[in-house]
Amino acid sequence: MINIQKIRADFPILSQKVNGKSLVYFDNAATSQKPQVVIDAEANYYKEINANIHRGVHTLSQLATDAYERSRLKIQQHINAKFSHEVLFTSGTTHGINLVANGFSSFLKPGDEVMVSALEHHSNIVPWQMLCEKTGAKLVVIPMNEIGELILSEYERLLSEKTKIVTVNHISNALGTINPIKLMINKAHKVGAAVLIDGAQAVPHLKPDVQELNCDFYVFSGHKICGPTGTGILYGKEEWLNKLPPYQGGGEMIATVTFEKTTYAELPHKFEAGTPNIAGGIVLGTAIDYLNEIGFENIAAYEHELLEYGTKQLLEIEGLKIYGTSSQKTSVISFTVEGIHPYDIGTIIDKLGIAVRTGHHCAQPIMDFYQIPGTLRASFAFYNTKEEIDALVVAIKKAQQMLT
Ligand SMILES: *Cc1c(COP(=O)(O)O)cnc(C)c1O
Repeated sequence: MINIQKIRADFPILSQKVNGKSLVYFDNAATSQKPQVVIDAEANYYKEINANIHRGVHTLSQLATDAYERSRLKIQQHINAKFSHEVLFTSGTTHGINLVANGFSSFLKPGDEVMVSALEHHSNIVPWQMLCEKTGAKLVVIPMNEIGELILSEYERLLSEKTKIVTVNHISNALGTINPIKLMINKAHKVGAAVLIDGAQAVPHLKPDVQELNCDFYVFSGHKICGPTGTGILYGKEEWLNKLPPYQGGGEMIATVTFEKTTYAELPHKFEAGTPNIAGGIVLGTAIDYLNEIGFENIAAYEHELLEYGTKQLLEIEGLKIYGTSSQKTSVISFTVEGIHPYDIGTIIDKLGIAVRTGHHCAQPIMDFYQIPGTLRASFAFYNTKEEIDALVVAIKKAQQMLT
């Protein structure tokens, strides 16, 4: 069970006024708000143990290194990775995907295929397009249907020995659809393709088990799970991370350097060149502890309640249409209101203190599929309430009156 009063008290920003009105924050799929423990942990790091890691013999450096490595272990446990060196710190989902896409340029030849889905965020499309341009491989797209699900029969038809990697999101940021990734991973492995899962929208709502999924790579961002911006995780199976070439060269990723030859450090350091976001990496662990204390079963159950309530209330509004109506979805509602541009509604309800996303949500191909310029997107987190949804409905009706 969620104790909503207690939880809301953990998030200082939620009691703010915006434009003179109580903030209703429904842009959680873009970034989450941060609880006080996370804010404090960031400050305490700089107050108490700030030092560079993995380098010094001095006490602070060791304290910082220990805290950073403890956080890695925590995240390993959280996602159930087999080894802690399969857990790489990154600056976010985008960084993780680019690291893998860049590495695959050494494996691909013209005629090979890279498969993405119609539901992807731009950051899980563009790096693969760049890879295809570089290698002569072909980008193949798994199509979607009207309710925002991937068409699995087409997926199976498109898979072949030419497919070298399939890269798909666990949950769509624009529509909330939960993709059947376990099944998709199995099918890809049957033709010998690797699979990268973009888990950016999944980790706020569930605890992924990378061994159970048997994915080759799983990436996510810290800032969408109550952690700091500029943090993220790339999980990769040991055998893949050993095969992939390093992404960036620099300090910390080497074993020995001479002008004739450099040898690379062991995992995970091979992929962690330079001084990382040390505070961020440590505090990401704090954020994950915070969420685990609430419990992901509790989070998922409560958010599902918000999704059902929100869907029902929003559909009472005349002319409102929801995009993405799969039975398998998280607490994301993408919608339009007939005859009004999403941006105009977004602007008016912002004046009423309500934050939603308007636009294409970094997923233009989905908007093209529906032949719309964009949607309004209300994405709910475990700290939102039904009263806030009521406020959203009232605000949209007000905007509707003003604009029609
Ligand atoms: C947010 C998001 C990304 C990009 O994450 P960054 O933190 O901007 O790197 C990628 N994919 C999905 C599904 C997302 O929701």
